[in-house]
Amino acid sequence: ASDVDEPVVAARVSTADGRGIEVAANVGRPAELDPAAERGADGIGLYRTEFLFLDRDAPPDEDEQFEAITAALQAFPDERVVVRTLDVGGDKQVPYLDLPAEPNPFLGRRGVRLSLSDHADLFETQLRALLRAAATDAGDGLAVMVPMVARVEEVEDVLSRIEAVAATLDTEGVDYEIPALGAMVETPAASYVAGALADRLDFLSIGTNDLTQYVMAADRENDGVADLHDPLHPAVLRAVDRTVTAAHACDAWVGMCGEMAGDPDLTELLVGLGLDELSMSAVTVPAVKQRVRETDSETAAALADEILACETRAAVVARLDGVE
Ligand code: PEP
Ligand code: MG
Repeated sequence: ASDVDEPVVAARVSTADGRGIEVAANVGRPAELDPAAERGADGIGLYRTEFLFLDRDAPPDEDEQFEAITAALQAFPDERVVVRTLDVGGDKQVPYLDLPAEPNPFLGRRGVRLSLSDHADLFETQLRALLRAAATDAGDGLAVMVPMVARVEEVEDVLSRIEAVAATLDTEGVDYEIPALGAMVETPAASYVAGALADRLDFLSIGTNDLTQYVMAADRENDGVADLHDPLHPAVLRAVDRTVTAAHACDAWVGMCGEMAGDPDLTELLVGLGLDELSMSAVTVPAVKQRVRETDSETAAALADEILACETRAAVVARLDGVE
């Protein structure tokens, strides 16, 4: 399944001055697991679980989800595997779920909003599968994150549902562990309350595809506003910066799993902004690792400071190109 000639041994990579950065892969279906390992990914930074729900007539049961999660853990037995709970709604429709028709789906019931309301039953099943998978041999590496968070209360609600699921599994005598827990930062609201989120969680992961869409009010799928859907706009970069700073103040690690993380020309900037993990399409893992190795973290931090002071995309790009 892979077009890689020489498998690369998975290894955590460090900057030239020794700061460890995890370079992980985004995976959207099981067939992508082995190629990600062959490319040298340090685990999975985003496992999109939608594949389990699409192109079928009924949702997967708990055992099917458990099997899929444990397969991912076994593909990366010594690494972290971040599984995202179901992220449908918005552009992703699932006919049998009877999702509401909405005038503005990207501003509607999607991600964790659905998991906590109309589809609490599906969420509970997914949580049961995840907690059981965390108790398996490679389960120590499991981390779970929820998409489309905008409010602290959503995270608190997720945490109490996890406690309830754990209590039920306990009563049933089923083995489980509570995995590391995180939230995606992909709404401006989440970036503004990142400290409060991080206070309650182990990590945050910045989804720049959606974060850019919502910061810039520019549909990520609309070619007519493609120039506005721009992660190099100073506002997006400042949202990333405030998220990293807030997470670190709460001793939470913070990653990035949007497309931006996989651009080797942005690696120095992202290291300079303080990200601990970058997760991307597996194909770009080797190039980003190489850029991490070439980066000096103090120089990168100085670059990030200068770029955060820029007022326009043009100024950001000029500074990245070393023109200013
Ligand atoms: C994102 O929004 O940046 C992200 C990684 O999630 P998705 O692309 O699946 O919405
Ligand atoms: Mg997203």
